[in-house]
Amino acid sequence: MHTTRINYADPKIIVTCSRCGNTERSVVAGKLGWNTDARAGVIVAIICSGCQTAEENAEAEINLATTRYSVDAFGRMVGFARI
Ligand SMILES: [Zn+2]
Repeated sequence: MHTTRINYADPKIIVTCSRCGNTERSVVAGKLGWNTDARAGVIVAIICSGCQTAEENAEAEINLATTRYSVDAFGRMVGFARI
């Protein structure tokens, strides 16, 4: 599992929390601290700020600071070290 903050620029995308079912516009969700969990580059869960554990919140903060994310040609999320 790899947790990071939601970072979508498209205001038309609506995200739904995988735990409580809350929905939010993606551009707002990132600012509110919603996370994505990815496995092998595929997003498997979206977790709103209210449903995250302290560990998940901390991991996302660290990954956000140290990793730059993009999407590859197959739609998988890929991360690069920030240098
Ligand atoms: Zn939630």
